[in-house]
Amino acid sequence: MLRDEGPLVPMAGCTDLYVSLNFGTLKATRFLNLWRLDSLRTIAVRDDGLSIGALATHAELIRSPLVGRRLPMLAAACREIGGVQIQNRGTLGGNVANGSPAGDTLPVLAAADATLVLRCAGGSRRVPFDAFFTGYRKSVLRPDELIVSVEIPRVRGRQWFRKVGTRAAQAISKIVIAGIGPSDDEGPRFALGSVSPTVVRARRTEAALAAGCSLAEAQRTLEMEITPIDDVRSTAEYRRRVAANLLARFWNDTHRG
Ligand SMILES: Cc1cc2nc3c(=O)[nH]c(=O)nc-3n(C[C@H](O)[C@H](O)[C@H](O)COP(=O)(O)OP(=O)(O)OC[C@H]3O[C@@H](n4cnc5c(N)ncnc54)[C@H](O)[C@@H]3O)c2cc1C
Repeated sequence: MLRDEGPLVPMAGCTDLYVSLNFGTLKATRFLNLWRLDSLRTIAVRDDGLSIGALATHAELIRSPLVGRRLPMLAAACREIGGVQIQNRGTLGGNVANGSPAGDTLPVLAAADATLVLRCAGGSRRVPFDAFFTGYRKSVLRPDELIVSVEIPRVRGRQWFRKVGTRAAQAISKIVIAGIGPSDDEGPRFALGSVSPTVVRARRTEAALAAGCSLAEAQRTLEMEITPIDDVRSTAEYRRRVAANLLARFWNDTHRG
């Protein structure tokens, strides 16, 4: 239908779409309802990695024993999304496709080196999460494609997630961070939301920590690596300060030094 009857806007849980419709920012009038495609809800282990269907809701991810064991930081992120009603309808694929830099699952997927599986009538392709977003709310997803699943390789280091918002529930992030502590084979990984036009993986900061730089040096690197702005939810200065403080907490909580 996307190929032959488009343009059509895919609808999953509609928790973002209805907001845009109400605000009058979505001009589209033709939609494709994905909600009943149960095959896109599967959460399973494949090739030693976790495979999550794009239509898995935040509530399903919170309840999933596999996610709890393999990727607890994703369950932690989903627990802080909206309230129960939003968690029951909002999906992982919708959070990604919506492309807000404040999307709470995005730093988790960035830190975990996730791959997105995209499919159109002609076939599918796999896009590393890092290469998906091309700018503010822009991505490589084509109008005839769907996100069908998210694949996450096994994570070895300790997982860490923090969201800073106005309240514990129903608040969009002022800043959101996910990290994975160093393990025997891999250095630390650290990604942030709401501090740049897209979710950002702090690779220079990771390299500084892996090279044994002081925490203060790593914090200075991080402050140069992010480009927060002043907006209705917070100021650039606050976001910069909190990012540096959370880097210190992440490092103290997850490395074995
Ligand atoms: C009151 C409220 C509170 C919220 N709180 C938070 C919060 O705390 N944190 C947070 O991150 N978000 C929050 N959100 C935003 C929203 O709930 C999430 O982004 C949610 O995950 C979106 O999923 P959905 O299935 O509802 O997406 P939809 O609204 O159905 O779709 C969103 C966009 O993605 C596209 N899309 C959806 N699925 C696919 C797919 N499989 N393939 C291709 N394109 C697709 C749609 O075309 C649309 O452009 C909140 C929203 C509301 C209304």
